[in-house]
Amino acid sequence: MTPPLRLAVNGASGRMGRALLELLHADEDAELVHAVVRPGSDDDGQLVPGAASGSLRYAHDWIHAPPIDVVVDFSGAAALGQALDHCLTHGIALVSGTTGVDDGLAARLADAAGKIAILRAANFSMGVAVLTRLWREAAAALPAWDLEIVEAHHRHKRDAPSGTALALGRAAAAARQTTLDASAAFERSGERVDGSVGFAVVRGGDVVGEHQALLIGTGERLELVHRATDRSIFARGALRAAHWLAGKPAGEWHLDDVIGRLG
Ligand code: NAD
Repeated sequence: MTPPLRLAVNGASGRMGRALLELLHADEDAELVHAVVRPGSDDDGQLVPGAASGSLRYAHDWIHAPPIDVVVDFSGAAALGQALDHCLTHGIALVSGTTGVDDGLAARLADAAGKIAILRAANFSMGVAVLTRLWREAAAALPAWDLEIVEAHHRHKRDAPSGTALALGRAAAAARQTTLDASAAFERSGERVDGSVGFAVVRGGDVVGEHQALLIGTGERLELVHRATDRSIFARGALRAAHWLAGKPAGEWHLDDVIGRLG
């Protein structure tokens, strides 16, 4: 019998961290062995509820961490940097969903992928991963059609357009041998610019997240739509990615690799 995956969660008392801990209770193939919270957090030093080892306590650092196969991180840039240091020192694979990573840390992560397996995604929904692939292929197959991305989120979301909308824009731009910087239209007045990728943003209520990727031709259009109704999809995707990444060679891996071949 294969021993369970030894997993650590960074940002364990955050929204995503808690969702991951919930899922881990029901995952017989993985065991939570380390749970890192912000120094000063009320949880620091407390028992982790529901952990397979009844004596596991939240920690605020990596100093006494046991052997780990994969670290799953949903925290912040500084905390991700510390987790990365630990992964590099011990050759541990890293799955990270943390957004807002600055250029310096992004460069460190890219460099680290020469030594350990790293999988990062701005959106761990498997549905969005498949949508991105279909949209990329459609953008390449229909090079003259106009590309528009419409996204909707709850009223408290701070960034706009969403990281997922930007990632979709980058994917389509790359499929057409250009960059998002060269083609994004975030604001509009007047006629559509040829070859642009247009963005529209809706904010309101408690919308978890909707992305419409539109290819608009003459007399016809293609609409690829993803609607998230529950945040746990991101935790499920990250956990699936963690199982997939365990034992993979060093490198920068993507959710697209996890979904593999369609059909
Ligand atoms: P959150 O604010 O609820 O949780 C972040 C947690 O990290 C907090 O509990 C915070 O205390 C903790 N933290 C801060 N410093 C730390 C440290 N030094 N060590 C350990 N933990 C530390 O936020 P969230 O909604 O859980 O999101 C976390 C990150 O994941 C954000 O960057 C968010 O944008 C991103 N996110 C990504 C996806 C995805 O699918 N990729 C989905 C949701 C959220």
